[in-house]
Amino acid sequence: MNHKDLEMDRQGDYIINKGSYRLCPLCNADNASLKPSAYSKDQWIIKKCKRCKLVYMENPPAYEDLEEIYAWEKTSSKVAEEKVKKESALRRGVRVLEHYKDRLIRRDKLIDIVNKYFPPGPVIDVGCGGGQVMSRLDKKYTPFGIEVSRQLSDNARKIAESRGGRVFCGNALLGLDTFEKDFFAAAIMSAYFEHEAAPREVLKKILHVLKPRAPLVIKVPNYGCLNRTVTQKKWCGFRYPDHVNYWTPKTLKQIITYTGFEIVRFNIWDRFPTSDNMWLIARNPH
Ligand SMILES: [Zn+2]
Repeated sequence: MNHKDLEMDRQGDYIINKGSYRLCPLCNADNASLKPSAYSKDQWIIKKCKRCKLVYMENPPAYEDLEEIYAWEKTSSKVAEEKVKKESALRRGVRVLEHYKDRLIRRDKLIDIVNKYFPPGPVIDVGCGGGQVMSRLDKKYTPFGIEVSRQLSDNARKIAESRGGRVFCGNALLGLDTFEKDFFAAAIMSAYFEHEAAPREVLKKILHVLKPRAPLVIKVPNYGCLNRTVTQKKWCGFRYPDHVNYWTPKTLKQIITYTGFEIVRFNIWDRFPTSDNMWLIARNPH
């Protein structure tokens, strides 16, 4: 472990330098002496924090590498192929049930939440990918996005700019600094928070750019789900080195409140254990 790659600022927050080592991204504990978890793979070290129990990758790739080498779109197709091959009968059963539940109850849970909780105005989609969420937003919202992958951000940019918004290509910490305080009516983080190496810092910056009382919705894989406990290493939520934080309902709630957000909704249906994902609605309390 190279501790020289870690720089501390006055608040005790860290800045990732070369991506080789980080403290627990939730509670800042140093888990360097802890044995890697059985979920570690190749050179990627997974640890379970001795203090807060968050499961995370201790040596995430640097942002510069994420942009090109490990860009999400390059690994996702490979993962999808493997997933189909390895799927167990139990997993297939759960997936079919989830599919029918979605069709019967909620076709698009994220968009339902947006329409219910978001006031009209500019909306920031942090980790917007190719703009899949933006393209589903009602016309009363002006979409803005941040995306680390160049290829995906180009696509998202077309969608955002056609509706008066814009897309920043780069990491979220830099991207959020390009917006003024209290600029956004709402924020989205969908399939993003599991990728972010500096989750506390990003949440604090989101709080800064959100208007008073403005909501934030998060959709993220649930490490505490039934499928992970059954399929273990074969769980679809494990992606190396793309996923660097493995949130449970408990650790997700902790980081949200720790960074100054107020939880608006996180009920049993938002974190139902048969789903691989969970949804949390928070807001700027000020
Ligand atoms: Zn911790």
